[in-house]
Amino acid sequence: MISIGEALDLILGQVRVLPPTRLPLTESLGRALAEDVFSPDDIPPFDNSAMDGFAVRAEDLRGATAAAPAALRLTETIQAGGYSERPVQSGEAAKIMTGAPVPPGADTVVKVEVTEEREGRVFISEDPGKGANIRRAGEDIGAGDRVLERGDPIRPAEMGLLASVGRAEVEVHGAPRIAIIATGSELVPPGNPLGAGQIRDSNSYTLFSLCREIGLEPERLGIAPDEYSATRQMIEVGLDYDVLLTSGGVSVGEFDFVKEVQDDLGVERLLWKVAMKPGKPLVFGRRGDSLVFGTPGNPVAVMVAFEVFIRPALLKMMGFSRYRRPVRRALLDEAVRNRHGRVHVMRVRAREEDGRWHVRSTGPQGSGILRSMHLANGLIFIPTDRPQLEPGEEVDLVLLRDDLV
Ligand code: AMP
Ligand code: MG
Repeated sequence: MISIGEALDLILGQVRVLPPTRLPLTESLGRALAEDVFSPDDIPPFDNSAMDGFAVRAEDLRGATAAAPAALRLTETIQAGGYSERPVQSGEAAKIMTGAPVPPGADTVVKVEVTEEREGRVFISEDPGKGANIRRAGEDIGAGDRVLERGDPIRPAEMGLLASVGRAEVEVHGAPRIAIIATGSELVPPGNPLGAGQIRDSNSYTLFSLCREIGLEPERLGIAPDEYSATRQMIEVGLDYDVLLTSGGVSVGEFDFVKEVQDDLGVERLLWKVAMKPGKPLVFGRRGDSLVFGTPGNPVAVMVAFEVFIRPALLKMMGFSRYRRPVRRALLDEAVRNRHGRVHVMRVRAREEDGRWHVRSTGPQGSGILRSMHLANGLIFIPTDRPQLEPGEEVDLVLLRDDLV
């Protein structure tokens, strides 16, 4: 059995980054850039006012106070979207709005709050210093600057930057087409009554959601009962996708057909069984360009396998240059045992206190107890070399999400 780290390396080694496509800007959200992006212009493109106020020459304000305000002659009003070529002369002020270009001659903007307008003049009771309240051309981004890199994720800030540099379309990496199959003769979909011996399929829904969370649109092909031909038919369809995710049927039970069907359909098996709990009987292979993940059936094993292996593989395929979550060190708030001889992936509540992360179990950790995932905001990895860890000892923590308060 190979370790989690070896299995992840093996899987990531099989991942091909999908080729780029060109998308309209708004459709690129959540994708990875497939190009370096440069700004053709300075941003902002011109010196402009950071305030509603008056554009003036700094020398005219020297020593201005409330008791002895500077009095300047008002020449004109410049609004955002307008501009003026008329130079501000000594003794003059132009009224200016936030975002409007600073007119020639002016080197300073005085905010409206320290001024008073009367009979064609403005009285200014403060000297803000030369250059105040002017946003300089190019202070955000200079013409020719690289603003984003290939492999960067397009999030709201990046979409804003792309818009700022004039990109209506953008080259992004492709998104894998994903098929999801739940296997098991005991499974019925929600919305149906439970017959004797039946349970509801939850795995195809957790897998669906986990894919959607990273911006993908998987297709749930359905439930395959534990029969060779039905399983084969559905897996055959699933192999037309970039990635096929199945749940269940990969153990050594008499009715576990997934591996046999994969073999018969020409899927090259690259991995079976990882030294972890839950999630041991994970099977991974490929056929042509399709990657095939057979997760075990237990609902927590499915989610843990996705988090540890499938998520980074999908993110890499999508072209992101960063696709692993950070691993933090955390202090155990309670003793934990690991007598399984495999790394125990425990579901925990993690909280930060005095700059350290602390973790506590979410309760029963059976691989069928999906509530342990619901309650968790993190996973910890309990190594095999020590049968028991005491409170205060350190473990590796992966945070699954930030909690809102
Ligand atoms: P298997 O790996 O097929 O032996 O399944 C292991 C356990 O997970 C069994 O108790 C199954 O009933 C359960 N299971 C399998 N598939 C699903 C599913 N799609 N949703 C919920 N539980 C499942
Ligand atoms: Mg089964």
